[in-house]
Amino acid sequence: MRDLAHYFGRTAFQKEVADQYEIIINKWSQLLFEKVIKHCRDSEHITDFPKPFEMDRIGRKLYHNTKSNGIEYDDCYYCDGTGFVPDIVYYKDREVTQENYICKCTAGTSKNFGAPYFDKFSDIKFTERIEGYNYPHIVNKRYHELLEERKNNE
Ligand SMILES: [Zn+2]
Repeated sequence: MRDLAHYFGRTAFQKEVADQYEIIINKWSQLLFEKVIKHCRDSEHITDFPKPFEMDRIGRKLYHNTKSNGIEYDDCYYCDGTGFVPDIVYYKDREVTQENYICKCTAGTSKNFGAPYFDKFSDIKFTERIEGYNYPHIVNKRYHELLEERKNNE
């Protein structure tokens, strides 16, 4: 964990904060711990050493992904392991919103609600690839760019 903190340029933590990390990490198995470290290093959207609550969430997410059917699908490009593929919807010409569809990977097909993305669309809407980004991050990026564009056009 210290190595990871150094990796993100962090050195010392206040005692209270360090204790928070310890409480969270103590709940994890060694394997989960290693997965979280790897996840933090490999995810380009994680640009800072995760705060304790973020660390907790990452741990939960990775734990859950492994647990639900024994298959790891953290690597799914389309849904980022969540089972949901986001789409941007243009509503009433002006409003932009995001909708989630079910992914074709095991994370998606294990959900028993929602419309399958690849039934509705033949391919993903944004085909650009950004190193270190999974598709939901790209959609999110485009979404915020669109909001910004609309604001500027007002
Ligand atoms: Zn998926």
